[in-house]
Amino acid sequence: MDLRTLLIAQTCLLVATAAMLWIARSDADRHNGLRTWMLGVTSQGIAYLLLAGAGRLPVLMSALLGNLLGALSVALFFVAIRQFLGRPYSVPRLAAMVAVVTAVGAAAGDKYVGATIFNGFAYASMELLNGLALWRAPRIGTARLQRVVAATFLLMGIVLPARALVLALAHGDADYLNMPLTWQQPIYVFGFLYIVITNMGFMQMCKMRAEAEVMQQAMTDGLTGLANRRALDSSLDAALAQGARSGQPFSVVMVDVDHFKSINDRFGHRAGDASLAAFAQRLRRGLRAQDLGFRYGGEEFCVLLPATDATGARTMAERLHQQVALAAQEGMPAQTASLGVAVWQPGDTADHLLGRADQALYRAKAQGRDRVETA
Ligand code: GH3
Ligand code: MG
Ligand code: MG
Repeated sequence: MDLRTLLIAQTCLLVATAAMLWIARSDADRHNGLRTWMLGVTSQGIAYLLLAGAGRLPVLMSALLGNLLGALSVALFFVAIRQFLGRPYSVPRLAAMVAVVTAVGAAAGDKYVGATIFNGFAYASMELLNGLALWRAPRIGTARLQRVVAATFLLMGIVLPARALVLALAHGDADYLNMPLTWQQPIYVFGFLYIVITNMGFMQMCKMRAEAEVMQQAMTDGLTGLANRRALDSSLDAALAQGARSGQPFSVVMVDVDHFKSINDRFGHRAGDASLAAFAQRLRRGLRAQDLGFRYGGEEFCVLLPATDATGARTMAERLHQQVALAAQEGMPAQTASLGVAVWQPGDTADHLLGRADQALYRAKAQGRDRVETA
């Protein structure tokens, strides 16, 4: 194996990866860093192409442009990771890094070993920063993968300066592209693994993030920002299973806005929407940290009170009743709600439990609204 062959092989890998990213790009890539990553791989692919062609291409092209694009790709990977983590980055500092690497690369000309030694130290700091940032900021769901990618960056951050040091001590002015690889062979093998792990890893991290976001959206009500009916079903299943295991009671409260239709009729649907969103916000403010609020549908809401018995549920429902009420103001009528409370009983299904809460709510409506009833 000689270096040029390895460089050509790595170039193929990078160009194919860049091509796949360009083909698969979408607007969603912009906010998670994948678009920047794609530009980084593209820049790196072209840089390797120029490097692999060194000796056959004009020196200025392979040395100056190759180093410029190589440094640009390192800066872009850095930015992509910061974007993924939602952390800031300094464009002037990155531009300075790119400028210095390019200047040194151009000055070294066809003495590629000189540029390799300098870049080894310059890039290592970026690799270490990438590795540390990813290691320290694990996201739920992507933590394990993030750590693998982080470890790969950190390892490269150690390998690069170590190689640079050996090159500086041993081969001051050797013909780098044509010198035997010997001890550098494992480093190039690691280089391949690095490309695969960081690219697959970053893409997979973005995919997992996108899936989590879609899942979150599927569980959230668009108008009020509360969890929706689907989320209620799954939380209720979990609470029922927990109740069956521990025997500890929990409660649900159905909340229905009184005479809501008249808001729509008098002020229009837009005003009705705004009024519902504000109602949901008041409801949320009345909840304790462990309670969960859901929009059941229309102007009906459901609250799940974990580890809460009949007395506690009654107290909480009374408090919510006060909290959601709104006095008349600026031409808008007063707003009240009716609440129905049900406490879990052994053997309950979701239908039983919600059915009892619904009956209690119905009673509250029948008895004149603006009150709490317990099943
Ligand atoms: P009650 O006191 O008996 O609960 O009377 P109500 O008017 O609140 O109940 P009803 O079931 O008769 O009407 C509910 C209304 O809520 C009808 C529907 O148009 C309105 N509504 C349901 N969802 C929305 C929504 O997302 N936006 C708006 N603007 N209105 C909604
Ligand atoms: Mg209503
Ligand atoms: Mg209703």
